[in-house]
Amino acid sequence: MEKSGLSVRYGLVWDSLNDEQRAAVMEVGEDYKRFMDASKTERLCAREIVRRAQQQGFSELQSKKSLKPGDKVYSVNRGKSVMLAVIGRQNVAQGLSIVGSHIDSPRLDLKQNPLYEDGSMALLKTHYYGGVRKYQWVARPLALCGTVVLRDGSIAEIEVGSAPGDPVFYISDLLPHLSADQNKKTLAEGITGEDLNAVAGTLPGAETDRRFATGVLRLLNEKYGMTEEDFVSAELELVPAENARDVGFDRSCVAAYGHDDRVCAYTSMQALFDVQECEKTAVALFVDKEEVGSMGNTGMHSRYFANVVGQMIRLQEGACSGFDVDLALAKSALLSSDVAAALDPNYPTVADPRNAAVLGKGVTLVKYTGSRGKSGSNDASAEFIGRVRRCFGEAGVVWQTGELGKVDQGGGGTIAYILANCDMDVLDVGVPVLSMHAPFELVSKADVYMTIRAYRAFYKSC
Ligand code: MN
Ligand code: MN
Repeated sequence: MEKSGLSVRYGLVWDSLNDEQRAAVMEVGEDYKRFMDASKTERLCAREIVRRAQQQGFSELQSKKSLKPGDKVYSVNRGKSVMLAVIGRQNVAQGLSIVGSHIDSPRLDLKQNPLYEDGSMALLKTHYYGGVRKYQWVARPLALCGTVVLRDGSIAEIEVGSAPGDPVFYISDLLPHLSADQNKKTLAEGITGEDLNAVAGTLPGAETDRRFATGVLRLLNEKYGMTEEDFVSAELELVPAENARDVGFDRSCVAAYGHDDRVCAYTSMQALFDVQECEKTAVALFVDKEEVGSMGNTGMHSRYFANVVGQMIRLQEGACSGFDVDLALAKSALLSSDVAAALDPNYPTVADPRNAAVLGKGVTLVKYTGSRGKSGSNDASAEFIGRVRRCFGEAGVVWQTGELGKVDQGGGGTIAYILANCDMDVLDVGVPVLSMHAPFELVSKADVYMTIRAYRAFYKSC
């Protein structure tokens, strides 16, 4: 990195690595793809994080009678959000070092009454979740994943479309021969939310009424014990069926569904697995619902995390008041771990090239997000950025800065402001990504590798 002189020039991760480290980058890429293939929904991702954490010696916080330095614990919120912690030499009440990511990604949820038939087909109605560009979700293989609570209270897990040989689901698009009217519409209006109906089957049942829907219902009943009413108490998500793939002759990038923000979940999880002892308790937080505003009992706005911090304090101190929790949060620091928009050579005009993150130039520090005049942004303090920058510099982390596009071009947000509102120092730090929110997004393996090193440095010495 050439940052020692008077002028600043951010360098490439690859140029900073020796042969051994380059091999490590590719190994991380292989493991990352496996993680992504197992993590296509927030529930599947939470399960995969817990599975890996258990392998690393983490045990459930609720089973602990005491907490001592070096203990590794996890806590799961309703199967959709997870906290991992390595207990520090200081008590939890003295504050935490947190890296917080989200594990929900844009997708198509099934409606509560999804099944209907038309054109001699059984179809599923969807309601999109998060910021999707609807035209990207048609004419491509989709997998159906989720949880159904049956009438008797038992639970059926559905996962169809990701395993080799599985059938997939499919949303049709208009043929170019008949798209004269649609072609005149804007990209945003060409395909509407109510057009996103997925083919679920075309085999007619023997009945005289609703033959195609009944054909599908019979299969669901045989396999999962489901009836049509059970869709009401289900969370079923259509997600891209493709598994993660290497990109380029040199295999230096990974394309996958859900890099936003599971790439930051993966990197913070891996960084925490490398922490055996630490001064402040090191926490990796994986939350749900970020893509729809972090609301609800599994989102960052939920009291869940504060309650878990309270449980940890009580195990160490014997008692814990709400104010003790507030003070512990105020003494904490957070890297809000979310993807940054990388400069896209196909669309250079939407970015300020002097302030855009570039693929392959490392973990990205984002001082502020928001839209227009930084509206809704955390806008990290110079002091905290200075602290993180020194920490990364001492650890040899290759980092860059990034801003989400040109001023007034659009905008976005992360969980940063929510924990900053708890009187915590917070900075957005994450992996640069191309085609954010597309069904297949792109990251550089070098950035994934460097982000693990960055979070590790934060846990150990920031
Ligand atoms: Mn995100
Ligand atoms: Mn997002």
